[in-house]
Amino acid sequence: MKTLLLSAQAPETASIAADLIQKGELVAIPTETVYGLGANGLDEEAVAKIFQAKGRPQDNPLILHICGPEQIELLCHHIPQSAYDLAAAFWPGPLTLVLPARDVVPRRTTGGLDTVAVRCPDNAVTREIIRLSGVPIAAPSANISGKPSTTTAQHVLHDHDGKIAAIVDGGPCRVGVESTIVDLTEERPRLLRPGGIGPEQLLAVLGDLVVDKAVTAPIDKDAVVKAPGMKYRHYAPAEPVVIVSGSREKAAQYIHRHFTPGDRVLCFEEELPLYADCAPLSYGKEADVNTLSAGLFAALRELDDPKIHQVFARCPVGGGVAYAVQNRLRKAAAFHIVDAEAQE
Ligand code: AMP
Ligand code: MG
Repeated sequence: MKTLLLSAQAPETASIAADLIQKGELVAIPTETVYGLGANGLDEEAVAKIFQAKGRPQDNPLILHICGPEQIELLCHHIPQSAYDLAAAFWPGPLTLVLPARDVVPRRTTGGLDTVAVRCPDNAVTREIIRLSGVPIAAPSANISGKPSTTTAQHVLHDHDGKIAAIVDGGPCRVGVESTIVDLTEERPRLLRPGGIGPEQLLAVLGDLVVDKAVTAPIDKDAVVKAPGMKYRHYAPAEPVVIVSGSREKAAQYIHRHFTPGDRVLCFEEELPLYADCAPLSYGKEADVNTLSAGLFAALRELDDPKIHQVFARCPVGGGVAYAVQNRLRKAAAFHIVDAEAQE
């Protein structure tokens, strides 16, 4: 199959893409978080193609992308007021809500669950594709399963050229990490995955929030978890990654002591001079966490090279989107963290 590369700016792109979605084809779509691998979320056969193209485990559910809050009711029931409050505060934007699913949503889409995840993305062409296709678009991150997510059309082309009908090129993603996921099906709202909307922003609207244990600790692959995606190895380049925490100076001392040829250092732009002889790669500025979230996956993809032995990574501290960057890096490192302050 020849994969069409469509510019988000071209006036005919939305209707071409919507047509392909209606025909049950796969179309990669730009969003503010990451590029999604999209298909008609109500069509079991189309959805099956997503799992096949990504090599995604069948029990890992997909997020349904909608073009406005009024569509929640078509897909969900028992919708609490908090869902409308969050949608009013953060949509269109990087927030996904988990709610009880109506029967119209195939269980293949929800990975067999009776709940469904919905989100309205902050990208005009993608919302127009959803509107024109007349269906919610199921779209997981467009990477091959387990690998770092796709934040440019070129990343998607690298992973899926010749295997999907089209890619809509909307340029690099602004946020760069996947959406925040909040489960609203229990008595208390639960954060299942940190993302572009920070926990403090959610708390300000909800007044209450439980952080799921899958956010902060490794999960056994046989465990029963609320967000099935959280238990799989994720975001990881080919070689082991170790996070080195602590002050700039202590971390540099530790890394210099342990660095061997063939290793790489993933650091903040401000730290590049410290690692001149350690093959450093910067993913953004420590002083501007939005550049770190926007640059993280492109850097992890660049480091996905079997010739590299090990990556020493520096990770931001704090809340907001830094909390999401920490979560993705920890997963990429399989929670392997060294505290440089505690080392001799
Ligand atoms: P991705 O689109 O690749 O970022 O993955 C979507 C993630 O959303 C999945 O890996 C799940 O962890 C989560 N998710 C989707 N649907 C549900 C649901 N019904 N309940 C809980 N988590 C969900
Ligand atoms: Mg993903």
